[in-house]
Amino acid sequence: MRTVTVVGASLSGLYAARELRAQGFDGRLVIVGEEPHRPYDRPPLSKDFLTGRADEERIALTDAEESAGLDAEWLLGVRARGLDARGRTVLLDGGRTVSTDALVIATGASARRLPGDDLAGVHTLRTLDDARALRDELAQGARHVVVIGGGFIGAETASSCAALGHDVTVVEAAPLPLVPHLGPEMAAVCAALHRRGGVGLITGIGVARLHGAPVTGSEVTGSEITWPPGTEGPPSRAVTGVELSDGRVLPADSVIVGIGATPNTGWLAGSALALHDGVLCDDGCATALPQVVAVGDVARVGGHRAEHWTSATEQPRVAVRNLLAGRTVETVRSLPYFWSDQYGSRIQFAGRRHVSDTVRIAEGAVEDGAPGADGLLAVYERDGRTTAVLSVDRPRPFMRARRELARGADPVESAAL
Ligand SMILES: Cc1cc2nc3c(=O)[nH]c(=O)nc-3n(C[C@H](O)[C@H](O)[C@H](O)COP(=O)(O)OP(=O)(O)OC[C@H]3O[C@@H](n4cnc5c(N)ncnc54)[C@H](O)[C@@H]3O)c2cc1C
Repeated sequence: MRTVTVVGASLSGLYAARELRAQGFDGRLVIVGEEPHRPYDRPPLSKDFLTGRADEERIALTDAEESAGLDAEWLLGVRARGLDARGRTVLLDGGRTVSTDALVIATGASARRLPGDDLAGVHTLRTLDDARALRDELAQGARHVVVIGGGFIGAETASSCAALGHDVTVVEAAPLPLVPHLGPEMAAVCAALHRRGGVGLITGIGVARLHGAPVTGSEVTGSEITWPPGTEGPPSRAVTGVELSDGRVLPADSVIVGIGATPNTGWLAGSALALHDGVLCDDGCATALPQVVAVGDVARVGGHRAEHWTSATEQPRVAVRNLLAGRTVETVRSLPYFWSDQYGSRIQFAGRRHVSDTVRIAEGAVEDGAPGADGLLAVYERDGRTTAVLSVDRPRPFMRARRELARGADPVESAAL
């Protein structure tokens, strides 16, 4: 194998490149990344980067010394547009191509958008450039911030905006945020963190549309504006409010749309890869094409697609091993894990929860509907066995329980809790 190309120059792409070298690949390594930046860490974007506690240097994932050691050709600010049927030629923006013997797909996911969200003051939060734009705007003194979507990124962004002193409201279409991740009981407990953080949470109601006004004009809604014939398009307009489906209008100087992410598979249309909410892979990250593996947020590995930092860092080792072996010799066995920092609390979750699982507080308490002052540890159980564990501010017992779960032991039976 003379050339391996990694498409996607972020977390899982960097880890794949490291693994290629660590596992002995000494040929030509090409890394293609659409963003102009060297790999950086996304979790701080909604947390310390937004609040100003971390700068770009702090969130960099690699430095000049390591980059040199990887001995890779970095094609940054370059988008892959297509892949030939055999997976041996990557077509780049501008018509250039890279011929390759093997390919690692690490193109992650993009923030979902709302129709009509192209007003100034409306943001998504996926990239460093997104975070810079939001941070700069907040610094100019946005008073009312509305976050659309109460998932992890929405909640973290709301928490950061509140910490910066903005008046924040979160709008969530479902009756409760985070239910698919945490189940209804613990989702309710975690939702109470918004209230504790002084952030309004409106649930069970959708967004009808965004209101905007010409940047220098008075407030008018989009549908009320008619542009003079012959003009090229609307002047620059800024968001002024969020209209809910019951007709209420929340005033807004800044809006963050946090309604999930879509895997970046568009460039693979027409290739021989199976695509369905991600690149379909076996348990070892191998795709339908030999010599092509997929890792991170874009990969649906063994039927599951995770959007978690830990999966994106654990899959590359296995994927690269299989790539170099030419077949699946190892499968990804790690236990799903994610964390989220909100309102000064750390939420951690590990395991595979099923809707029928029951949940029990094993340590700490729920006080007034929210995690108690000493946090809590909750276990999810099915047929008397623990399937998953959740912690709010109880990192040590959580890590013990996570370890036990990962090695297949029951943390309750092994008296870790
Ligand atoms: C704001 C934020 C906060 C988060 N916080 C947490 C957290 O607290 N805990 C947690 O577990 N996880 C968190 N995550 C999730 C975690 O960051 C992701 O799981 C991780 O970044 C996935 O890495 P990846 O390399 O697979 O994909 P990405 O990080 O999405 O990187 C994919 C890269 O590929 C590039 N690309 C896409 N298409 C192309 C193309 N056609 N050609 C070339 N390049 C392309 C993209 O520009 C991007 O740079 C957070 C994510 C975000 C956005």
